[in-house]
Amino acid sequence: MKIRVLPSGGVFHTERDESVLAAALRSHINLPHSCRSGHCASCRAQLVSGTVAYPDGPPLGLTAGEAAAGMVLLCRARATSDLVVEARAVHPVTDVEIKSLPCRIETRELLAPDVLRLRLRLPAVESFRFQAGQYLDVLLEGGQRRSFSIASPPHDAARLELHVRHVPGGGFTGRLFAHEGPGALLRIEGPIGQFVYTEAVTPAIFIAGGTGFAPVKSMLRHALERAAPRDIWFYWGARTPIDLYEEPLVREWAAAHPRLRFTAVLSETGMDARGAGRHAGGWVHEAVLARNPDLSGFDVYAAGPPAMIEAIRAQFPAQGLAADRLHFDSFDYAPRPAQA
Ligand SMILES: Cc1cc2nc3c(=O)[nH]c(=O)nc-3n(C[C@H](O)[C@H](O)[C@H](O)COP(=O)(O)OP(=O)(O)OC[C@H]3O[C@@H](n4cnc5c(N)ncnc54)[C@H](O)[C@@H]3O)c2cc1C
Repeated sequence: MKIRVLPSGGVFHTERDESVLAAALRSHINLPHSCRSGHCASCRAQLVSGTVAYPDGPPLGLTAGEAAAGMVLLCRARATSDLVVEARAVHPVTDVEIKSLPCRIETRELLAPDVLRLRLRLPAVESFRFQAGQYLDVLLEGGQRRSFSIASPPHDAARLELHVRHVPGGGFTGRLFAHEGPGALLRIEGPIGQFVYTEAVTPAIFIAGGTGFAPVKSMLRHALERAAPRDIWFYWGARTPIDLYEEPLVREWAAAHPRLRFTAVLSETGMDARGAGRHAGGWVHEAVLARNPDLSGFDVYAAGPPAMIEAIRAQFPAQGLAADRLHFDSFDYAPRPAQA
């Protein structure tokens, strides 16, 4: 089917069983998106003409009212006729090529009881360019894929660093934790995503929930080591101190870079940790809101669990954050196998 995007005028074609978003990305037309699972609604667009179907059922991220008003979620929608869609401003995020490559797990290291650091080695003849904050997909049998953010910065891309949290009952992360070690071969596709760091001198707030630290680490290293200086406040939320798996490293950065301030926020902790004066208690987005009654001057970069991202999207605009200054990646689950 032929798809035309307004207002940019971009045109591309979908193949059988391909979502509108997947076809756009394959055609190098960068439409807004994040989770690609129908949850986060970043890919919401207005259907101007034509019809779509959702073979996996109505996506969770689209309310009945929005659907009735002609909104569609491009990551799950299949075109059943030629379409004209109006999508939010299309940012030309990257001129880099999305590649599908084999790679080997070079090292595998436990950072916390349920978090592994993987370092992936790519074929020597291949270059893999990406922007700080982007992610890659690990390609699995049966067309399934699992998304993981790249924790290394673009200027240190010889080995790709990933932080993988063990999902109880998770097919891929279960396999990694159980037995897949150095030498194992994976197939990846990337770089993907529009959660990328944009250089500016205005102050920035970074927010990570759990392994949301991975893309933030890439961005922070890029910002501190390569980009123009700016004031940065980094808030990292986790349940307990052990879940802040690279806290000493972040504290080293903060000591070396006076313009970087770090706050760790623990949702489940006794007074001991808080009493040490190092941590705030509660939810990470609440700590940011409490400390910044006026967010109008900031760029905000947030990555982590869907509930954290939803809370930020719902609450931060009321404290002055402009929509185009909120950048986020929601760590949603991959679609279920039947839907993949
Ligand atoms: C853009 C993006 C970037 C991501 N980056 C990272 C990253 O850097 N590090 C990281 O650890 N994760 C990241 N994730 C989440 C990660 O992709 C999933 O946790 C992973 O796909 C789980 O795969 P699995 O095969 O082990 O679980 P599955 O077999 O897919 O799931 C098994 C069960 O666990 C549930 N489940 C699956 N994932 C989660 C989850 N994340 N939390 C809670 N329950 C879950 C499912 O509902 C299912 O019932 C990212 C997700 C997205 C969309």
